[in-house]
Amino acid sequence: MSEANTPRIVPLVDQRHSPLALPPAALEASRRMVPVGAVLDQLDRPLRDLRISVTDRCNFRCNYCMPKEVFDKDYAYLPHASLLSFEEITRLAQTFVAHGVRKIRLTGGEPLLRKNVEALVGQLAALRTVDGQSLDLTLTTNGSLLARKAKSLRAAGLQRITVSLDGLDDAVFRSMNDVDFPVSDVLDGIEAARRAGFGPTREGGVGGLKINMVVKRGTNEHEILPMARHFRGSGIVLRFIEYMDVGATNGWRMDEVMPSAEVIELIQAHLPLVQLDPSAPGETAERWGYADADGRHDASAGEIGVISSVTQAFCGDCNRARLSTEGKLYLCLFASNGYDLRALLRSGASDADLASTLGHIWQGRNDRYSDLRSALGPDTSGAGRRVEMSYIGG
Ligand code: SAM
Ligand code: SF4
Ligand code: SF4
Repeated sequence: MSEANTPRIVPLVDQRHSPLALPPAALEASRRMVPVGAVLDQLDRPLRDLRISVTDRCNFRCNYCMPKEVFDKDYAYLPHASLLSFEEITRLAQTFVAHGVRKIRLTGGEPLLRKNVEALVGQLAALRTVDGQSLDLTLTTNGSLLARKAKSLRAAGLQRITVSLDGLDDAVFRSMNDVDFPVSDVLDGIEAARRAGFGPTREGGVGGLKINMVVKRGTNEHEILPMARHFRGSGIVLRFIEYMDVGATNGWRMDEVMPSAEVIELIQAHLPLVQLDPSAPGETAERWGYADADGRHDASAGEIGVISSVTQAFCGDCNRARLSTEGKLYLCLFASNGYDLRALLRSGASDADLASTLGHIWQGRNDRYSDLRSALGPDTSGAGRRVEMSYIGG
């Protein structure tokens, strides 16, 4: 067997059960922090974006995320009692919103596998930011259950959906999800989402529907152009994501990363592009619009995005926090440990206790893994200690 064909599954070191200590000062009367919607971390980054993993389970086994060899029938998923209830999630979300969060993304695992997730969407949709606005409420899904759920999610108040789709070729798609799931069902889900109102809202405008494609060199780079052609002019933004060294089990290798610059070059050779301004500070995707004959952005053809998490670090304005399925707060996608907010919640903490604790934790944050990786090269030494993406959410 050649090296390229040798399975490179790294054994899982379970990091889920060793939480970081909560800052004791947070509950001292003289050090209490009252949220004013503007907490900053050590690098002056505000807290704006919260990703909540609502389940650590998934019906797919994408090799780059939950390889079958590790996530098999013996894998110890979290027991139901460990999961945050919808009420607990909403109460924590409210605390984050009080500190400045404006955007909440539900993720997993596969979030649509969480029973009655629409009820949670409804509770979160009722929250208001510090300046009285609705939250930007979104969800990332593999799309397998979307045809059934799109309407009820919309009715519950979900504003946007991101569907992960790594190719249009059925054989490629089935092999990447590794459970033989047909691509046509995901395409039906995307269509159902469009019909439910997640699609573009105005001519050429960007709607509430995005597609994420993880590009793995040697696996699906030949799907880049067909995907670009398929979604061009559809009002659906397609984003290409560099294959990342998240978690500890996917056997990540740099030579399987296709840099975004190459993705752009490839598309550009067939479909001319112009670079667009970022839509918001802390935005992870670099935006490119399809160009018209004069080299200007043709809004009716739409845009694509590239997320260069490996080749172009963007920690400088990272304003994202992640809440795991069992209520641990992670300050970085590449963190080894999280803060056990569920324990605090279940100990009878008041809203003021929760807010002060979260404020102190965020003020102490100095994570910038991707910046350091760019400076030092990929840290394979830490790979065995990182939590899995399916647990803290992408
Ligand atoms: N199951 C849902 C899905 O696939 O959309 C939500 C959870 S999944 C962990 C969230 C996102 O992370 C997906 O778009 C997936 O493609 C991406 N992802 C997972 N592992 C990745 C990796 N190693 N590198 C880059 N993106 C990854
Ligand atoms: Fe499941 Fe999403 Fe991970 Fe694929 S990327 S295994 S669909 S959680
Ligand atoms: Fe944010 Fe960590 Fe990613 Fe940097 S590496 S952008 S700090 S999640």
